[in-house]
Amino acid sequence: MVNMLPSTFVEQFDTQVKNDCAPVSVTLSHSNYEIKFDDDCAPVTAAPISSPTETTTPMRLAPQLHLDSLPHRYTLAISPYSPAGPVVLNPPAMARLQQFSQPQPLEQAVDFTLAAANILLPVDREPQIEAAPLATLTAWLHVTNACNLDCPYCYVRKSNQKMSAETGQQVVDSIFRSALKNGFQSINLKYAGGEAALHFEMVRQLHSYAQQSACRHNLDLQAVVLSNGTIWTPPMADWLVENSVKLMISLDGVGAAHNRLRPTRGGKGSFAAIERTVDTVLLPRGVQPDISITVTGRNATAAAGAVEWAIARNLPFSLNFYRENANSKKFGDLQLEETHIIAGLREAYQVVEKHLPTRPFINGLLDRVQMGAHQHTCGAGQNYLVFSHTGAVAQCQMHLAQSIPFSTGDDPLDIIKNGVIPLISVEEKEGCRTCPWRFRCSGGCPIETYRGTGRFDVKSPHCNIYKTLLPQALRLEGLRLMKVGGVLD
Ligand code: SF4
Ligand code: SF4
Repeated sequence: MVNMLPSTFVEQFDTQVKNDCAPVSVTLSHSNYEIKFDDDCAPVTAAPISSPTETTTPMRLAPQLHLDSLPHRYTLAISPYSPAGPVVLNPPAMARLQQFSQPQPLEQAVDFTLAAANILLPVDREPQIEAAPLATLTAWLHVTNACNLDCPYCYVRKSNQKMSAETGQQVVDSIFRSALKNGFQSINLKYAGGEAALHFEMVRQLHSYAQQSACRHNLDLQAVVLSNGTIWTPPMADWLVENSVKLMISLDGVGAAHNRLRPTRGGKGSFAAIERTVDTVLLPRGVQPDISITVTGRNATAAAGAVEWAIARNLPFSLNFYRENANSKKFGDLQLEETHIIAGLREAYQVVEKHLPTRPFINGLLDRVQMGAHQHTCGAGQNYLVFSHTGAVAQCQMHLAQSIPFSTGDDPLDIIKNGVIPLISVEEKEGCRTCPWRFRCSGGCPIETYRGTGRFDVKSPHCNIYKTLLPQALRLEGLRLMKVGGVLD
């Protein structure tokens, strides 16, 4: 995951920096890790961004370069054009970088590393970001409308209806049809609900059918079950392992804090059941669920507890913002009040710093923010399909109630391409075009932006939260890279 410069670069650099005997080191963050963290949303696809390195053209410091001090006089650096997150520079590397405040050609080995990270750019042009190569088609299969919990922020109107085997097979057929027609190489299925584990036999059947289809069409297949984590049994966990299917569990705090947001339909807490599931059913069998934490006004200060709980079990986690919907409007205390959310997430970040995992975590620290440069917040309208239990298709799970029926033989991707969520790049969003964070944040969830502003082509209503917390999230990544590199304990 981490590249250190090879020793030949070190020797070359040492001959240039006479007053500092420490070897140069630049530690790189990589965009490909954890970009597929499983949560409710459509995954982001990283977009290639050019690194125009040459030896003859004078190079300058990248515009809007973000620098932050780290311990031991190390420095974190990222530019808007960094392809894959920040780099960490030791003092000699930083000294060399500063020399480019006067443009000059690349000479030393470290110069090329900094230029490849787009920290240094040619004086006469800026890098170009290309359209993301869409290799994977992700599909949400809403296998049941039923759930044993009654979370106030849930966008599903619950009922006992569920997906039939016949509908499920037609849905899987249509996913493969779309994948083949549109040139995708792999398919990523999300078995969801309601509570997908309540209709687990259907998950098993559909996955087996999808495996056969993938084999027949020579496509890769990945899958995840999105669950509330309350009713898992050992045989269900064994099935996940045997079939390499991932699991995502929602957890919004520890103990009473979680229970306030995720009660059972009878009004009891669900935390104890989740903890029992994770500690006695999943972890002993090697199932490491992704932990998805929904941050609302009601539980902002509890996010830190959920993060600590996940880190103590070495589980990946992501902090996601609540999205108001028709069912949740009446609960005013769920709303994302800026100061409160920032304070809650800062507490969560302090927990991360205290326990500092070495496993990559930055892509889970701030709703939809991803380190790999990208132009669209999610795959809605591009490479994401959401199927209701009746087999109708929508652009996003938040729009399940407006899903569109289609006929056998139709390409569902074609149907949703002209849906209500337009495909707008961050460079087209008012307020985002020149933002230094545009290729990390990409303007936030389009549905949330529309709800808050009545427009899709403007910055997120949560822009201040992003701008305040992104530097702090990056700093944590810098500390993690230093720990992985052996500079921090
Ligand atoms: S539109 Fe918003 S809620 Fe829907 S998948 Fe995209 S980011 Fe998630
Ligand atoms: S929403 Fe705000 S932080 Fe995000 S890209 Fe737009 S201007 Fe930048």
